[in-house]
Amino acid sequence: MLIGVPAETTVGETRVAVTPETAKKLKAQGHTLRIQSGAGVAASAPDEAYTAVGAEITDAAGAFGCELVLKVRNLFDNEAALVKPGATVVGMLNPFDAAGLQRLASANLTGFALEAAPRTTRAQSMDVLSSQANIAGYKAVMIAADKYQRFFPMLMTAAGTVKAARVVILGVGVAGLQAIATAKRLGAVIEASDVRPSVKEQVESLGAKFIDVPYETQEEKEAAEGVGGYARPMPQSWLDRQKAEVAKRVAQADVVITTALIPGRAAPVLVTEEMVKAMKPGSVIVDLAAPQGGNCPLTEAGQTVVKHGVTLVGETNLPALVAADASSLYARNVLDFLKLIITKEGALNIDLNDDIVAACLMAQGGEVKRK
Ligand code: NAD
Repeated sequence: MLIGVPAETTVGETRVAVTPETAKKLKAQGHTLRIQSGAGVAASAPDEAYTAVGAEITDAAGAFGCELVLKVRNLFDNEAALVKPGATVVGMLNPFDAAGLQRLASANLTGFALEAAPRTTRAQSMDVLSSQANIAGYKAVMIAADKYQRFFPMLMTAAGTVKAARVVILGVGVAGLQAIATAKRLGAVIEASDVRPSVKEQVESLGAKFIDVPYETQEEKEAAEGVGGYARPMPQSWLDRQKAEVAKRVAQADVVITTALIPGRAAPVLVTEEMVKAMKPGSVIVDLAAPQGGNCPLTEAGQTVVKHGVTLVGETNLPALVAADASSLYARNVLDFLKLIITKEGALNIDLNDDIVAACLMAQGGEVKRK
């Protein structure tokens, strides 16, 4: 099959959908690979690394004009126009971006959004949300350590003792767990909060303290269980009690990392302006929910700002700041997904009885197919 890998044109996007490692594997499967010149450069994969494994280097029209197009982000209008009607696009196409999906349908493309894969054991090797959130959680702590003008670990020196940083993590999915693990390695003292009760054990196993907010009604308990592993909006009664507990911790914190998300909705506000005002000068908040409106209303998406003496980091694409490893993991996710839609003989075969294929399908035959 003719497979194209265009360069990403979204501002700040440094990742690439196929690395030399996965290009080699696709070549070994008998496919012809066209990589747009420079597509991998920001992810430390120059053109020569692709030609060394047998891929062709081409221009944008060559990379888009293939039967199968592998991308990180969705296509813009001018890009969709370069793809032949009936071709297939695989990427992080954003299942909640109705206009983007319509663009694929209007160009008569078949589109698969890998973020929509179910959180099941079989789908784990192609779970882009996990592979990228893991990187985001790590990078959030790295940025916090860089912005924070004190040490993370406790130090006992001849010049006196330095206290360990107190880190509060709000939202403990994949990113939050990696943030805890990374901050722990740096020697911080960590507390964490999440709505889902199953998280407590995971937090404690990483050596952090769970901020317990007991469920008082059946409604609270049921909402906390979420759906498909994801959080649902919690009743206001629980959120009020969580807010009181979180406020106490945030006031004492040196670093707050927020990752709380509810799929398809605006991020819940967990750190209010009042809480920021009560923080110590020089404290840092890294808000991973910035693209979904932020867990703190003072966060500015894409900006780092100082408000009430607190540095607020609103980076919207943290995985892109670890471009090489983010691309390596993403490209392996893509490769594993392709096994579901390409036969051993190398032909495209879209089997909608496969739950992962059906869940990821966003556009086909001129229509948006999102479930
Ligand atoms: P996410 O990015 O959707 O959300 C981040 C976290 O924010 C979640 O833990 C969520 O519970 C939490 N949150 C939402 N509202 C909150 C609030 N008001 N206060 C505090 N926290 C709040 O989550 P994710 O990292 O994508 O993980 C989602 C689920 O998928 C988890 O249950 C995870 O264990 C599961 N998962 C399963 C697999 C698998 O089985 N293959 C793989 C990865 C993740």
